Amino acid sequence: MWPVNRLTGGGAAASVTAMEPLTEAQIRASLINCSKGEASRIKMPPAFAWEDLDFLGWSDPGAPLRAVIVVPGPVGIVLRKPERKRTSVVRSSMCRVCLTQHTSDGVTLFVAPLAGPAGRNGNSVGEYLCTDLACSLYLRGKKQPRGRLVRQEESLTLSERVDRAMTTLNGLVKRVAA
Ligand SMILES: [Zn+2]
Repeated sequence: MWPVNRLTGGGAAASVTAMEPLTEAQIRASLINCSKGEASRIKMPPAFAWEDLDFLGWSDPGAPLRAVIVVPGPVGIVLRKPERKRTSVVRSSMCRVCLTQHTSDGVTLFVAPLAGPAGRNGNSVGEYLCTDLACSLYLRGKKQPRGRLVRQEESLTLSERVDRAMTTLNGLVKRVAA
């Protein structure tokens, strides 16, 4: 039922570099905007599909309103999701990183406390991202947004779209680190 995504076939996909696998200790040590105690309490998913990932992104199975993103470096940030009480909270339906169009609950405004004293004083930055943080899979056509029948055609190659996504995501991480 989905149109064939021609961007994921052929040489373009092969030229995209996947993420270097990291150990759990490396992932915890990469987190720049939480205490060591919080970093040690975050629960990891059972496994990561490294070969399809440009960055790590997951919701903490032990604390569903907490999410983590780790970009190559590695540099990781902890983010919070709003509580799901009002559906009107989400206004955007497009992920700002992978530009996937979702129905409204497919995109969430994630908020990350700034690193260091600024964050401890309550300063944060926010960004609209895929709720499941599976941008890498949407970019590769390995996951489809629910309830969307029209796929946006793009003339960029997969590698160019991954570069654009990572530029945006690295920008978010830099804003948290600043
Ligand atoms: Zn996304």
